[in-house]
Amino acid sequence: MTAAVFECSIERVEQVGDEVKLFFLTKPEGFSFTPGQFCILSFDESFAESRAYSLASIPSDAFLLFGVKRHGEFSSRLHAMKEGARLFVKGPFGTYTLKRAKTKDLAFLAGGVGVTPFLGMIRQALEEGREGRLLLIYSVRTPHEIVQKEMIDSLAKKGAEDGQGPFRVVYVFTREAPSGEPVGRLDIDRLREVVSGFTLAETSFFVCGPKPFIASCKEMLSTLGTPPEHIIIESWG
Ligand SMILES: Cc1cc2nc3c(=O)[nH]c(=O)nc-3n(C[C@H](O)[C@H](O)[C@H](O)COP(=O)(O)OP(=O)(O)OC[C@H]3O[C@@H](n4cnc5c(N)ncnc54)[C@H](O)[C@@H]3O)c2cc1C
Repeated sequence: MTAAVFECSIERVEQVGDEVKLFFLTKPEGFSFTPGQFCILSFDESFAESRAYSLASIPSDAFLLFGVKRHGEFSSRLHAMKEGARLFVKGPFGTYTLKRAKTKDLAFLAGGVGVTPFLGMIRQALEEGREGRLLLIYSVRTPHEIVQKEMIDSLAKKGAEDGQGPFRVVYVFTREAPSGEPVGRLDIDRLREVVSGFTLAETSFFVCGPKPFIASCKEMLSTLGTPPEHIIIESWG
């Protein structure tokens, strides 16, 4: 079956740090998706040049949101696009959704722009009042690179006056941190400490980010005793 193609226009562009841009696109009528899925974006209907990008919004948003890190040719061309420009969207595709989790408690390990699928998944879980706790461990180089920080922080504050809200976020800064916070990659000691309140055999770990980040998370989670079926990876490479 051929996937549906939609013509969208860029409503708003937001720069995050030096390398990531958020693209808010008009939401086409009849477009339905599950948070965590991705679309193929193209500059024209031929889709001769195209790349996959994860949806960072949820179905009740009035827009489709994509977060794109500048890498090579396609993403650089996207970064040069202005509000009002047209983009062609094919999809949605993929099964990287909350349905993959077989546990109540969920942890999301994001490396950089790898946070995009999790933004929608976490909002969906909170909106639906999903049972279980949600933990986002978000590794970025600097605080300026956090995608949708205000939204993430406000979700973490909801119902968390006593520190017991359903959603908690832990930022890991690898290059520059706010004063008083540590700088360094996510290592096994930090991971062990952050997940100490969770029973690893009863927690699903969604992991998305650059290949070395995924490999290191997979190894650390295995060492800590997470069953392989609870490590759910989205690999972009
Ligand atoms: C299912 C899926 C979802 C994706 N979601 C997103 C998303 O939400 N946001 C996003 O920015 N990208 C996402 N990507 C990656 C995206 O599709 C492109 O691969 C990326 O934008 C690079 O394309 P490019 O043409 O700019 O670079 P290319 O010319 O294709 O590559 C330039 C160089 O960068 C390297 N490279 C490409 N992608 C990566 C990467 N992710 N990490 C490290 N090195 C890389 C290549 O190996 C190459 O050396 C996703 C990919 C998949 C398969």
